[in-house]
Amino acid sequence: MITTSETRTDTMADNLPRAIDTKLAAIYAPAAEIMRKLEHARANLTAMHVRKDPARVADFNSRINELTEALDALDAAAAPYEAIYAETRWTRFFLVPDGHLHRSRRCSSLRWKTLTVWLPEYSGKNETEIVELAGEAACTICYPSAPVNRLSMLPVHVAARHTAAVESAEKAAKKAKTTAQTITVGNTTYKTTRAAENEIGLRVDYMIGSRYMVAVDASHRAQLDNNAAEDEAAARAIAEALAAQIEGYDAAAILTKKFAAKLKTYKNIEHYNIPTNATF
Ligand SMILES: [Zn+2]
Repeated sequence: MITTSETRTDTMADNLPRAIDTKLAAIYAPAAEIMRKLEHARANLTAMHVRKDPARVADFNSRINELTEALDALDAAAAPYEAIYAETRWTRFFLVPDGHLHRSRRCSSLRWKTLTVWLPEYSGKNETEIVELAGEAACTICYPSAPVNRLSMLPVHVAARHTAAVESAEKAAKKAKTTAQTITVGNTTYKTTRAAENEIGLRVDYMIGSRYMVAVDASHRAQLDNNAAEDEAAARAIAEALAAQIEGYDAAAILTKKFAAKLKTYKNIEHYNIPTNATF
């Protein structure tokens, strides 16, 4: 079905609506800020501490007059263009950032404070097409037939989704990089290489503590050797996991280094018998 707006669009000089509304959008640009200040001044006038002070009441009244005049000036500047619109009429589209596309700023779902962006580039265009394009972003009060289950293909929304997708991909890549730096050994994950190496140091320490302790009898010896073997295996597993997950990592070197450092702390301790040629 051909809508009224389509008929108008088709019979109109193509660029007029866009040209007029682009001018109007620029003229009205300061209006939201002026209205915000006006609301603020009016609210102040009702405050008790202001009402008790005639000088301040006068100040706010003159402020309100100034702001009202500023709004009137915008209307006056807009009048010749609004006259052309009133005579011809064409489709207009308003977008609430992060919100819906509306036919008019007077849509009942909008409060005056709602920041709306006029899209003069769509003025005069086929409403059905633009609403189709806007998909779920079209206000269902302004456009009762608006499709609700389709993503908006308005360039502004496509661009926003693109930006969001790029940001999310960057975030994922960053996370993947961080995850790659973690070291997994069996069910244990070390957040950093250093944390994994600290655990190697601890296991080597336990290993030395068991391996070189003088046993009281054969059964004690067997128990100590068993403990030492467990800690040795654990230290080795972490070092090998590091080597498997970090290019160029030397598993033998970290074991040797930790062994040498920990061994020093056991020198000259009672009940320990450490051979001079002890190695990991
Ligand atoms: Zn609306």
